[in-house]
Amino acid sequence: MSLIRPLVAGNWKMNGLRAALTEVEALTAAHPAPACDVLLCPPATLIGAMVAAAAGGPVSVGGQDCHAAQSGAHTGDTSAEMIADAGGTAVIVGHSERRADHGEDDATVKAKAEAALRANLVAVVCVGETEAERDAGRTLDVVLGQLAGSMPQGATAANTVIAYEPVWAIGTGRVPEIADITEVHDALRKAVSDRLGDGASMRLLYGGSVKPSNAAEIFAVENVNGGLVGGASLKAADFGGIIAAA
Ligand code: PEP
Repeated sequence: MSLIRPLVAGNWKMNGLRAALTEVEALTAAHPAPACDVLLCPPATLIGAMVAAAAGGPVSVGGQDCHAAQSGAHTGDTSAEMIADAGGTAVIVGHSERRADHGEDDATVKAKAEAALRANLVAVVCVGETEAERDAGRTLDVVLGQLAGSMPQGATAANTVIAYEPVWAIGTGRVPEIADITEVHDALRKAVSDRLGDGASMRLLYGGSVKPSNAAEIFAVENVNGGLVGGASLKAADFGGIIAAA
């Protein structure tokens, strides 16, 4: 890992009731001063309560998605401003489950990422290839194309994080070879550096079946600056093991 301070972000997806906030308290007690930034993104219903549960500790709280608009007639949606108002500091945009389940394309993801910056949230922009795209040898084309189409105007290393998440590795227990993660992250580093003055210090996360047992090896890759973690972020013991590896 480079000198960039890593970020370990957890995505609770559509999991978690208020009782699960004891996991945040346990995490904070076990890791009061981690060597990385820590972000947890619970369902929107828990953002405010998690902010309260995490107060005074190292865990920041974020959303899993936002609408591009600030407010309006968008039943069921949450704006970036609402996440900020609830105490959130970041939001995931373009997760493959949103791209697949809600038909979100790169232009939509870019608009959401720009909404995040408008609300002073850090945008965690997800990119990643499907298994069919990998098998067809199209991984770099797909990932770099998504990056180019999804990166918000005004992106800097401080306000934007890129998460590389191969779709076929999410929730499957399968992880790419270290050489494959290295290849994609090197290409992402070059792309953000070419595009942004400070792209050399933008955080590039790996996501997809990260566990305490594989985190250290993945985080040791030069252009991997932490992880985006789904299933293993739900329990303090597992997430803490990943934080300890960063
Ligand atoms: C994710 O949902 O972003 C993710 C990486 O999930 P998992 O860690 O469970 O593969």
